Amino acid sequence: MNFKDFPVQALMDITSRPELVFVKGESSWLWDHNGKKYLDFVQGWAVNSLGHSPKCVTEALIAQAPKLITPSPAFYNEPSIKLAQLLCANSCFHRVFFTSSGAEANEGAIKLARKWGKKHKNDAYEIITTLGSFHGRTIATMSASGKPGWDVMFAPQVPGFPKAEFNDLASVEKLISEKTVGIMLEPVQGEGGVNCATPEFMKGLRALCDKHKLLLICDEVQTGMGRLGTLFGYQHFGVEPDIMTLGKGIGSGVPLGALLAKAEAAVFEHGDQGGTYNGHPLMTAVGVAVIGEMLKPGFLDHVKAMGQYLSEKLTALSLELGLGAERGIGLLRALDLKDEIGAAVVTHARDQLQNQAGWAHMGLLLNSPRPALLRFMPALNLSRAEIDQMIEGLRLTLKAVRKAA
Ligand code: PLP
Repeated sequence: MNFKDFPVQALMDITSRPELVFVKGESSWLWDHNGKKYLDFVQGWAVNSLGHSPKCVTEALIAQAPKLITPSPAFYNEPSIKLAQLLCANSCFHRVFFTSSGAEANEGAIKLARKWGKKHKNDAYEIITTLGSFHGRTIATMSASGKPGWDVMFAPQVPGFPKAEFNDLASVEKLISEKTVGIMLEPVQGEGGVNCATPEFMKGLRALCDKHKLLLICDEVQTGMGRLGTLFGYQHFGVEPDIMTLGKGIGSGVPLGALLAKAEAAVFEHGDQGGTYNGHPLMTAVGVAVIGEMLKPGFLDHVKAMGQYLSEKLTALSLELGLGAERGIGLLRALDLKDEIGAAVVTHARDQLQNQAGWAHMGLLLNSPRPALLRFMPALNLSRAEIDQMIEGLRLTLKAVRKAA
């Protein structure tokens, strides 16, 4: 089928998309409308934690759909009870509220912290966030984000989100006042370019929160659910937050997010929080299946091993081709390209690699969150051979892009 035959104009034009329509996905691979196959190291932006259409997800959907799709969030349902229990049993949290996206989970975290401030801190409402952070695309989460340019995009912003430097404890401490209720951050800034918090920063934030009676809020929409080689990112740092948000990987492709809180911080009263799809049985049944896979012996060890292997391979490629450093934790990694060729690399790998030996009718999907940076967020259950294949595709791409420059 020709791309021109798809009536794409009916969709709002919100981003520049390649002229491809994806029709099939399996593990680390995607197929477009022409049957061309792509090795996917983006995975819906770290969403498909178990790859495309994993068996456990399709089986959970097939088993749950004929039983019960939704009774309404005003009633209990079994999958959401089970998933909340599993999340609490495997984390430091005691209460869960389910959402349909990461931004919605973060909105909930902001509301919860403000409510806690009302109850326990003289109406304090400010949440210190960090420059370069990304917390979502609702007005409040855009206001919380430290993404350059977002302060004026849909002005006026929601007030109450002073910004500190990431990994700079003194700059956080300077912003603490009687209005402060919490500190919110991603343990690894994902969209900001895979900037990893140092253990000292995370431990220092915990100490600041304890000293000033503040809530530590971890946005783990990208770092949670095995991505860093631990079930949750905070476990990598040995620091317990009071509130955590999840999204992306928890549904491995279906729209599911979660707001988790320790019992002392779970202060919502009836009427404070809700939403038509919260705790949706079809989605939470998938969540139960996904966490079940991640809790199987060896799963997180595999993430750690593949993260280490990807790191070594990227470092070797960087040495070979004179690129910058690679960084990251687990399977959330980035490579500094030194030159602003990220967009060209992404396009070439996707559209032109097929002209190289070994890549007939195949492409490679990569992501460049900054002009000189590539980010890698593959399926957590990918194989060594798939990493080798990606590295080979990247090598050929970088050589071709440099030759053309
Ligand atoms: N928080 C972080 C750390 C994210 O990376 C994202 C999405 O990229 C979000 C929040 C927003 O999640 P969603 O797009 O599901 O609303």
